Amino acid sequence: ATTPVTITITGAGGQIGYALLFRIASGAMLGDDLPVRLRLLEIPQGLRAAEGAALELQDAAFPLLRGVEITDDAAVGFEGANVALLVGARPRGPGMERGDLLAANGGIFGPQGRAINDHAADDVRVVVVGNPANTNALIAQANAPDVPADRFTALTRLDHNRALGQLAAAVDSPVGEIRDVTIWGNHSATQFPDVSHATAGGDPVLGVLAARLGGADAAHEWLVDEFIPRVAKRGAEIIEVRGSSSVASAASATIDHVHDWVLGTGERGWTSAAVVSDGSYGVPEGLVSSFPVTSDGTGWRIVPGLELDEFARHRIEASVAELEDERSAVRDLGLV
Ligand code: NDP
Repeated sequence: ATTPVTITITGAGGQIGYALLFRIASGAMLGDDLPVRLRLLEIPQGLRAAEGAALELQDAAFPLLRGVEITDDAAVGFEGANVALLVGARPRGPGMERGDLLAANGGIFGPQGRAINDHAADDVRVVVVGNPANTNALIAQANAPDVPADRFTALTRLDHNRALGQLAAAVDSPVGEIRDVTIWGNHSATQFPDVSHATAGGDPVLGVLAARLGGADAAHEWLVDEFIPRVAKRGAEIIEVRGSSSVASAASATIDHVHDWVLGTGERGWTSAAVVSDGSYGVPEGLVSSFPVTSDGTGWRIVPGLELDEFARHRIEASVAELEDERSAVRDLGLV
């Protein structure tokens, strides 16, 4: 029998956790032939909600689910973890400055990085969902010196999937036929959703947009005025319409991220993930920034050599500048 994979989920008693657990246990994340063991890590006030979710997992009778443990001790939670989904984070409260938010999250992601360093499996792969995700990932990574830096990532797959959805609607194509969209930079309002290399059914999306909208200028205008802000602010739109934040789509994107990282992106072109920069595309080394990436199953590789026009370079620089500010702030706080 195959040894179960151990998956740690922090904030497992929260909303995204609730949506994630059932899809992981069903086999959607790692394949329907791989048994899984779940570790739900929570803060004390989240434990009851995690216990409730565990009762429902039992009731769902997933054949692949080989055990659920619940703890508020990070050393126990990350013991032997092969995959760690860091969902729990400190939300921005009223009157909270960005520095306060970074400090509060440093208090969560620093110790979690150390616990991963000391207790996780040698092959551990980490994805940070809790915001500010890129910088939380940087903090965790900086506190795990024995773990290769490329095992720490942050989620921009939801932004990527949102971009795919918007483009599919705009060019009237099945979403599965849209390829090679990129989210660059920070998972924040400064992110740059880039369609300059994207294709729909094999045709360059820019050409299809120009044909539909009446020229290249009109296509560019639509991208700048409608598409980019819509993708970047989709979270607020969901809150406005649904009355609460995006949960199922955030969980689904987390599943996609780990699925493609572990099982490979195959022939489907690239995807987007925030990974530790190796200096590619002028992004300073060490920042956790979103790039176009592929995986052969062993790890993410940044897609090399893409041509970027001045508009794209400018947008990427702006988002990367924000990441540098966040890194300076957490350095000043002694968190990295
Ligand atoms: P959610 O499960 O809705 O969200 C969790 C985190 O995901 C937040 O930081 C949220 O950021 C972030 N996020 C990223 N992308 C999205 C997206 N597209 N839409 C919505 N959220 C997104 O929060 P809950 O409050 O329901 O649950 C959080 C749980 O975490 C609680 O049970 C709490 O007890 C736990 N927790 C655990 C910790 C730990 O294990 N050490 C530490 C802190 C909390 P944003 O705030 O920007 O929406």
